[in-house]
Amino acid sequence: MPNSKAKTLETLLSEERLFPPSKQFSAQANANDFDIYKKAANDPEAFWASFASQLVWRKKWDKILEWNRPDAKWFVGGKLNITESCLDVHVASDRRHKAAFIWEGEPGDRRILTYYELYRAVCKFANALKKLGVEKGDRVAIYMPMIPELPIALLACARIGAVHSVVFGGFSPESLRERINDAGAKLLITADGGWRRGRIIPLKHDADIALEGCPTIRDVIVFKRGDFPVHITEGRDHWWHRLVDGAAPDCEPEIMDAEDPLFTLYTSGTTGKPKGILHTIGGYLTGVYATTKLVFDMKPQDLFWCTADIGWVTGHSYVVYGPLACGVTQLIYEGAPDWPDKNRFWKLIEDYGVTIFYTAPTAIRSFMRWGVKWPKMHNLSSLRLLGSVGEPINPEAWMWYQEHIGGDNCPIVDTWWQTETGHIMIAPLPGLIPTKPGSATKAFPGISAAVFDEQGNEIVEGGGFLGITKPWPGMARTIWGDHERFVKTYWSKWPHAYFPADGVKVDQDGYLWLLGRVDDVMLVAGHNLSTMEVESALVDHQMVAEAAVVGIQHEIKGQAPIAFVTLKGGIEASNDLAAQLKEHVAQKIGNIARPEQIIFSSDLPKTRSGKIMRRLLRDIATGKVLGDTTTLADPSVVEELKMKYEED
Ligand code: ATP
Ligand code: MG
Repeated sequence: MPNSKAKTLETLLSEERLFPPSKQFSAQANANDFDIYKKAANDPEAFWASFASQLVWRKKWDKILEWNRPDAKWFVGGKLNITESCLDVHVASDRRHKAAFIWEGEPGDRRILTYYELYRAVCKFANALKKLGVEKGDRVAIYMPMIPELPIALLACARIGAVHSVVFGGFSPESLRERINDAGAKLLITADGGWRRGRIIPLKHDADIALEGCPTIRDVIVFKRGDFPVHITEGRDHWWHRLVDGAAPDCEPEIMDAEDPLFTLYTSGTTGKPKGILHTIGGYLTGVYATTKLVFDMKPQDLFWCTADIGWVTGHSYVVYGPLACGVTQLIYEGAPDWPDKNRFWKLIEDYGVTIFYTAPTAIRSFMRWGVKWPKMHNLSSLRLLGSVGEPINPEAWMWYQEHIGGDNCPIVDTWWQTETGHIMIAPLPGLIPTKPGSATKAFPGISAAVFDEQGNEIVEGGGFLGITKPWPGMARTIWGDHERFVKTYWSKWPHAYFPADGVKVDQDGYLWLLGRVDDVMLVAGHNLSTMEVESALVDHQMVAEAAVVGIQHEIKGQAPIAFVTLKGGIEASNDLAAQLKEHVAQKIGNIARPEQIIFSSDLPKTRSGKIMRRLLRDIATGKVLGDTTTLADPSVVEELKMKYEED
């Protein structure tokens, strides 16, 4: 095997289907002229500045970009408060009394907040924070359920220049403690609890445990979501409703520098210890605004539903800042998709008339496993655009999504990006780019994405590693408290590009196919194989719901793929089926990818953000002590898998 082979990714799965947008969709799309790509490529700075100009600035920037790799400053000298673009500007327009959020709680309670009401709620809460002594630059930790007070809390921090650090409400007390201490937060905002699958998540109770080891926290604000019992520590804990009662409904925004910090947020921890990513104001706002407008084709009459929790970056960028800057109406739902029944999401779409729906492949694979009978119970014809984010989407899941949710009538935008990138980087502009199932298609205008080999040579067709060669406005500025790790993780692999640590292939049409994390690549008989392609081939089998593939040591091949497989409802595991699946993979992508072993399992280990943790599967398969498991959604899955693996 020539040596160069091992330095790029072999790509074997081929997908020929192509879906151009309908004429009607293209005609009405926000981006409907291919010139946008050319113009942005010729002058990316001017492209981004054209979006920044549509936002509210107190003082215009002197310079669009100052770039001293890896340190970027966007809109240098510009002054603004991000909440003026998200709230004040709408309150001063004919959107004043338009719904900003339509919210439904898991038990079925409903609330609507107009832009005017949201503005007042944010200002009141901002005044309450000020009264407790929170100042510009202070870090505020937020640990809440998906209720309107969550975005209100973020926006109130931004209003007074405090740096928010949201910790997903599904995290354990230990994870919360670690993140509070890392950020050095002064205040924590939480709630008595939140609903999930008919049960109460005891947030305040868990926060109390976390706070036993958080010396920097001086005050805790507790929102009363239900009537859940809590312990109140006098002097430290304050009820939200008491603080805002009588607070002034206006709050002069703190005027911030474009490069002042907006938030820190921890990555989901799929590959190891989470990184506290820092984002600044002006560039981030510009990036989320431009991508919301063009990728989601946002229109005044849309009802946008991004199902991500605000505890993840997707919720920051595409529930809070991007859509609010566009002045649209959004649906927020508090609870689980299968509560009280597996049609809950489809019922919400029908009841409220959702037009744009943005979710994750892991959710789509669950919907597939539950069966089409659930979406079929509802009229989903209000939908006009679908989105996907978080993991590579297998062609099979993509096709299912298009047919059964989109009614073959909605473009799908598969959006690749990371906590670190702040906003969408690779995705189709839905009125322009014909889609291919499983491909995130092309870089967003103004973004320079390319495929490189280990040494940093560009690959024009074939597999390799993703790199971003030009700075972009929403890029992370550092890892909180650890700039060295920032430089080492993202900026040290190549001299000319940012390294996101994802594998990718580029096809003959220049389409990009994300192949999963670099850590998940296997080296089989001298070929670098992406686990994602083997998984896609497995999921392509009609009996398979989900699959995770890892490489283990093999005497002859170096490494060999083994597969953990979850079957669709009602299907029994058997040796016959295992043999069939091995054959199916060999047929689909070639003998080299044939799994050495198939292990059937009722579930796979996933992060709380829903991503499969192959790292743990590798540990199980190699009999190692398990690495960091704090981000696991359900630790018992690992125990079951260990037993199964040992039995096998
Ligand atoms: P950690 O960095 O702590 O391991 P994480 O990478 O899962 O956690 P996020 O920033 O939430 O944390 O996720 C970004 C990653 O998710 C990307 O680097 C990529 O691997 C994957 N991803 C996101 N969107 C897509 C997509 N559309 N297609 C393929 N992969 C995607
Ligand atoms: Mg990552």
